[in-house]
Amino acid sequence: MTTIIDGNEVAEEIRAGLADAIDTLAAEGVTPGLATVLMSTDPASETYVAMKQRDCEEVGIEAFDYELDPDAPADELYSVVDDLNADDDVHGILVQMPVPDHVDDRAVLEQIDPAKDVDGFHPENVGRLVAGDARFKPCTPHGVQKLLESIEVDTEGKDVVVVGRSNIVGKPMANLLIQKAVGGNATVTVCHSRTEDLAAKTREADIVIAAVGVPELVTGDMLSEGAVVIDVGVNRVDADNEKGYELVGDVEYESAKEKASAITPVPGGVGPMTRAMLLWNTVKAAAEAADIDVDL
Ligand code: NDP
Repeated sequence: MTTIIDGNEVAEEIRAGLADAIDTLAAEGVTPGLATVLMSTDPASETYVAMKQRDCEEVGIEAFDYELDPDAPADELYSVVDDLNADDDVHGILVQMPVPDHVDDRAVLEQIDPAKDVDGFHPENVGRLVAGDARFKPCTPHGVQKLLESIEVDTEGKDVVVVGRSNIVGKPMANLLIQKAVGGNATVTVCHSRTEDLAAKTREADIVIAAVGVPELVTGDMLSEGAVVIDVGVNRVDADNEKGYELVGDVEYESAKEKASAITPVPGGVGPMTRAMLLWNTVKAAAEAADIDVDL
């Protein structure tokens, strides 16, 4: 029997756990605050930001919403980030990517106060993660760790193949997995578009984590019997339905499910976890700013 890993259920447990921490902070007069900054009219970005704001409200985090005209000068965005850095009610700042071409996205990430960088993308936080002293674990890889924990998969000593080397998923995922810590201690191979014979690599893995952005790239015949499969991918493909599209992952679900001992669906696997871990990081940021111990 293949275990279908229910990301919605695990995310709900994470949110329930955060409620205690939020109560502890409330007792000290602290309400965690997350500011989202959107400089785009891309429907997907608008939806992501709206979902993040709704998630905040549901758990008792105050959501601050900033929307900038995509044609506004870059300085306007920098100035909003400066204001948010200085605002004591804001504990986390999230600038929704991608920003328009005339804005230097690296410069924006570097401008965010590292103590409020709940995405974990500021170079200082990337450095801390690599050094094994993470302040904020990036939300998607952290969510993947929680999913593995939820089905009691111990990564210690396991061979893990991460397909994808982006700064937001693949690289931090690999870094977390090699840490000398719970949820780490794995032997990790990172694959990418220049990898030769991807299937030979994935067939050797106990755990395959796909973060590629190519629909259904990883198929069942690329897996070993009993592998654990985590599908980070979210891809829109044309479909004969009302919307005209459907979401599929980077893993061919049906064939992979035949081989896997456990697998995440798309949607309903990693996606809800990314959102839950953003809330987690915001609560952590608020607790650290107020110097209050909370159980996370
Ligand atoms: P990027 O496009 O930034 O990175 C994709 C990576 O996949 C690159 O390293 C690329 O290699 C590699 N790659 C591309 N084609 C192949 C191939 N044929 N074989 C092996 N490797 C390949 O994507 P992201 O990391 O941002 O996102 C990956 C996927 O995860 C997307 O579908 C995205 O929508 C989804 N996502 C989902 C989230 C969630 O919460 N569920 C959160 C974030 C992302 P190279 O470096 O050589 O170009």
